[in-house]
Amino acid sequence: DEDAALLADEYDEDGAEPYVPAPPVLAIVGRPNVGKSTLVNRIIRSREAVVEDVPGVTRDRVTYPAEWNGRDFTLVDTGGWEADAKGIHKRVADQAELAVDEADVVVFVLDGLVGATAVDEAVVKMLRRKKKPVLLAANKIDSTAQMTEVYPLWNLGLGEPYPVSALHGTGTGDLLDAAMKHLPETAQYGGMVPVGGPRRVALVGRPNVGKSSLLNKLAGEERVVVDNVAGTTRDPVDELVTLAGEEWRFVDTAGIRRRQHMASGSEYYAMLRTQRALDKAEVAVVLLAVDEPISEQDVRIIQMSLDAGRALVLAYNKWDLLDDERRYYLEREIDRDLAHVAWAPRVNVSARTGWHKDKLGPALSTSLENWEQRIPTGRLNAFLGELVAAHPHPVRGGKQPRILFGTQPSTRPPKFVLFTTGFLDPGYRRFITRRLRETFDFTGTPIEVQMRVRE
Ligand code: GDP
Ligand code: GDP
Repeated sequence: DEDAALLADEYDEDGAEPYVPAPPVLAIVGRPNVGKSTLVNRIIRSREAVVEDVPGVTRDRVTYPAEWNGRDFTLVDTGGWEADAKGIHKRVADQAELAVDEADVVVFVLDGLVGATAVDEAVVKMLRRKKKPVLLAANKIDSTAQMTEVYPLWNLGLGEPYPVSALHGTGTGDLLDAAMKHLPETAQYGGMVPVGGPRRVALVGRPNVGKSSLLNKLAGEERVVVDNVAGTTRDPVDELVTLAGEEWRFVDTAGIRRRQHMASGSEYYAMLRTQRALDKAEVAVVLLAVDEPISEQDVRIIQMSLDAGRALVLAYNKWDLLDDERRYYLEREIDRDLAHVAWAPRVNVSARTGWHKDKLGPALSTSLENWEQRIPTGRLNAFLGELVAAHPHPVRGGKQPRILFGTQPSTRPPKFVLFTTGFLDPGYRRFITRRLRETFDFTGTPIEVQMRVRE
């Protein structure tokens, strides 16, 4: 089948792959003040991580690229909680749990001189449930005379306790050697990560909306795509395009251009190409054509970009063809079919005349910036506190679910986790999501709000 052959050919092209598997993740967990940050500093051998003498100072989860004996990994320092005596047991465990979920190996740090406290025990309980490799680091063992302090820690059931002094660096080598034995080659939960370079854009849309034309206009040259050239010239897989002084990598442009040579535009392969471009990109420009009604296929492609978790820009092409009547209907179609992505920047363009093509770059930047936005834990909880005080969850069957604490464990796109005492109504969840968008600027990015119910 000709489509399949062309597609296979595109997949074979190599050398331009902008993604590599993410390095494995090692998470450091433990209650405040046991020396996690000091240990992190020791491992990354720099002073980047802030060490506070005050216990419980708000500190978000921080990740660092790290290396040990020639092996790269991502080090995650968990510290984001607030000094709130009442909820601190829960919060320490909650934060640790999020980090553990995404980790390949966990280093559980406690104060070797203090021994296992009730908070430590709570974390251990959670760690057992997760069934991930855990190494037990007994910190603050600054001298050999103190080594005997660690023996009772065998009772925790986490295997051999590693005596370390993060302060002096003793024992950390043995700890890391042991951790490396459990660390897989690549992250099990991390997927692919970009290797740098220009930001990656997927220009997608149903056939005939003007993707190829827009690409030509943006690339600053009219390309004549002629059938007999196709066999002899190798189309680039990706193309570098400068918009408003910034370089962008438009991914899979061969897929955009090649469609023109295909005998029949099989929808299946078109969708496969769309999916592939989205997989490779950070931001999607979904192109729509204003001279025809918004179609199911348009909506499906937007949904694919949401499912892929990409930043989004909606571009309405063929604006030169728009008359007043069509414009009236277009606005209604947008209200009806695209209300769920009303947060996406909208750019009206004409690939034919080049009108407004300079609006695309700024829209891409806005979406990406918000896609990477991280709301500090303190700010998020201040926001949640005010919101819940002003609009408490309705009472259901004599019960009123409460939000205990919220955190944003990840970006690209932003993901929030709310710890609650019961299930929240879908309406209330939507309300929170809407207020998050109103309070913090999430123009151009999908956001996810998850719940974790605590009994
Ligand atoms: P975190 O809250 O778990 O990140 O703990 P920090 O790294 O901020 O350390 C808390 C306190 O313990 C700081 O005053 C550190 O200087 C101290 N500390 C950390 N590691 C050691 C160690 O190995 N020995 C001693 N004696 N003190 C340490
Ligand atoms: P693709 O299938 O999405 O790559 O779409 P093409 O770029 O091949 O364009 C499909 C058709 O729409 C071609 O005939 C283009 O000349 C035409 N077209 C593309 N953009 C515009 C535009 O802005 N205005 C008008 N009037 N026609 C356009």
